[in-house]
Amino acid sequence: MIRLTNIQKSFGKQAVLKGIDLSVEKGEVVVILGPSGSGKTTLLRCVNLLERPQNGEVAIGDFTVSCKHPSKRDILTLRRKTAMVFQHYNLFKHKTALENVMEGLVIAQKVPKEEARERSLQVLEKVGLAAKADAYPSQLSGGQQQRVGIARALALNPEVILFDEPTSALDPELVGEVLSVIRKIAREGITMIVVTHEMSFAREVSNRVVFMDEGVIVEEGKPEDIFSRPQEERTKQFLRRIT
Ligand code: ATP
Repeated sequence: MIRLTNIQKSFGKQAVLKGIDLSVEKGEVVVILGPSGSGKTTLLRCVNLLERPQNGEVAIGDFTVSCKHPSKRDILTLRRKTAMVFQHYNLFKHKTALENVMEGLVIAQKVPKEEARERSLQVLEKVGLAAKADAYPSQLSGGQQQRVGIARALALNPEVILFDEPTSALDPELVGEVLSVIRKIAREGITMIVVTHEMSFAREVSNRVVFMDEGVIVEEGKPEDIFSRPQEERTKQFLRRIT
């Protein structure tokens, strides 16, 4: 349902993604693991062309974009099929939680305001923040702000949600509430690609773990296989270091 083919991305002379192929099925939760600097975030940002690969192809459903010369229209179409949850939430500070969630619906999807409001309240309820609809980001904890970020992505009803280290900016005591919201929506069958350093979450929630190192996919498989029976030396080393 999502297919990345031969994704190559360099920053200057540094080759960060060296021809990545990855497919994700509808309803799958794929976690991308790997050492710092291995290219995880860059790969995620290539899915919606927030980073523009020099080569390769991104396909979502039957819509395919060639990364070399995408038109503005192609990029827009691709972005509409995806939503992203950022490490630092990226909320509008001068808008309330509800207005943050409504924004994409009203501006990008042209949903009438009243309907957008209804839908946004529903998703805020889903992430446990109905009572905070009128709060501004500064009045919310990091965990609550990230849950607004997740609500904003969910409201768009995208074909895939891309999570870029959604808990790594949080104080440890706030990580759990965000992971449990992600766990809950994963169970609803929403397709997700998640870059994270949370191993127990990866193990418990994902259908597939992709291990990256130095711009290539070293190994991928079911979480129980990757964690208990990794095949590649680099994966073994990584897991030894972090567990
Ligand atoms: P981490 O786990 O630390 O977030 P990562 O695996 O997500 O790491 P990336 O953030 O994708 O790694 O970065 C991969 C490499 O690309 C790094 O060496 C990084 O410095 C470089 N890089 C990423 N973005 C840019 C950019 N906009 N300009 C130049 N170099 C970049």
